[in-house]
Amino acid sequence: MKNIILTGDRPTGQLHIGHYVGSLRERLRLQNDGNYDEFIVLIADAQALTDNADNPKKVRDNILEVMLDYLAIGLDPNKVTFAIQSMLPALPELTAYYMNLVSLPRLMRNPTVKSEINLRGFDKEETGLPVGFVNYPISQAADITAFKANIIPVGEDQLPMLEQTREIVRSFNRIYNTNTLVECKAILPTNKTCYRLPGIDGNAKMSKSLGNCIYLADDENTIKKKVNSMKTNPRNIDEPGIIEGNVVFTYLDVFVKDEHFKKYYPEFNNFDELKKAYENGGIGDGKIKAFLNDILQEELKPIREKRNEFAKMLPQIIDILKQGTNKAIKISNQTLRDVKEAMKINYFDNDNLTITNK
Ligand code: ATP
Ligand code: MG
Repeated sequence: MKNIILTGDRPTGQLHIGHYVGSLRERLRLQNDGNYDEFIVLIADAQALTDNADNPKKVRDNILEVMLDYLAIGLDPNKVTFAIQSMLPALPELTAYYMNLVSLPRLMRNPTVKSEINLRGFDKEETGLPVGFVNYPISQAADITAFKANIIPVGEDQLPMLEQTREIVRSFNRIYNTNTLVECKAILPTNKTCYRLPGIDGNAKMSKSLGNCIYLADDENTIKKKVNSMKTNPRNIDEPGIIEGNVVFTYLDVFVKDEHFKKYYPEFNNFDELKKAYENGGIGDGKIKAFLNDILQEELKPIREKRNEFAKMLPQIIDILKQGTNKAIKISNQTLRDVKEAMKINYFDNDNLTITNK
C-alpha cells in the first residue's frame, strides 16, 4: 500500500504555536523521515468560507500568510505539494456523493462541530447555522479520500472528522462493493499536551477564531507582551504555586528542554525540579514567565526571520502554489473517475448504458 500524507489548514489567519506543536512539527518530522509516496498540504479555503461566507477577503488574504508559515517552519516545496482546496473541482463533487451516505443526526453528533457551532454563536444568531458548516466533515472526507490519503497529521480536534471519514470510506466500499477508497489514520504528537494547546487566555484551545494566539509571525515585543498577559493564580510569592490549569506551565511542558535550564534558569536542572520548587512556594510568576519568554523567543526567532525572507518572494510562492494545485487537480480528478466507475455512474466510459428490462 502507498503511504499518502494529507493535511491542511483553514486560511482564517496566520498560523500559531498551537498549529506548530499540534500538527506542523509532526508534518516536518514526516517530511524529513521521507517515508511516503505523496505529501499533500491543502489550504482549506472552501472550508474556511463555511463560517466566513461574508468575508471572502479574509480567506483570500490568508492564503499566502499560511504559505509563508509553512515555508518558514521548513516544509519543503520539493517534497510537499501545496494546493488550494477550492481550485479542485473533484472535491465538491465527491462531497455531493458522500452526503448521501451520512445521516443528518450523525453529522449533528460530531462533538467538534457541536463545540464550534457554540463557539461561533451559530446557535444564537437569527441567521442560524449554515448548512455548509455542518457539512464540513463530509467535505473533509472528500479532501482526504480524493488523494487516497492514509496518514493525517492533525490536532486532537480533528479526530471526529477522521472517524467520519473512515465511516464514509467503509460505507462507500461496502455499498459499491469496491476497495476504491482508503481508510486513514491520524498522527498525533507524542506529547499529549500538544494535542490541543490552550489559548493565552486559558481557553481550552488556542484558535485563530478566538484571538488568543501566539502567532509564528509575532515579533519579539508582541511575544513578550502576550507571555506577560497570561493569567496565573495571584498569590504571595512564598505560598505554594498551582500548576494545574496554569497555562505558563502548559507552554513550558510543550517547549522546555533540559538545555534551556543551563542557559536561562541555572538554579534548576530540569522541568521536574522547577515544578516541585514552584509547588513548594518561593517562585514568583514573573520569573517563570520570563523563562517561558526566553524559550519562546529562541524557538520562534529563526522561524520569524525565515518568514520575513520568504515574504520577499511572493511571486515564486504563488508559482509553487499554482504548480501544486495543478498536480492536486490531476490526482483528485483521477479519484473522482474511480469513484464514478465504482458507482457505475461513468455512463459514457463504456458502451453498456442500457435499460434494465429490455
Ligand atoms: P479556526 O479557528 O479558523 O478553526 P484553528 O486555529 O482551529 O482555526 P485550523 O486551521 O482549524 O486552525 O486547524 C489546523 C490544524 O491545526 C488542525 O490539524 C488542528 O487540529 C490543529 N490545531 C489547531 N489549533 C490547535 C491547538 N490549539 N492545539 C493543537 N493543534 C491545533
Ligand atoms: Mg479549527
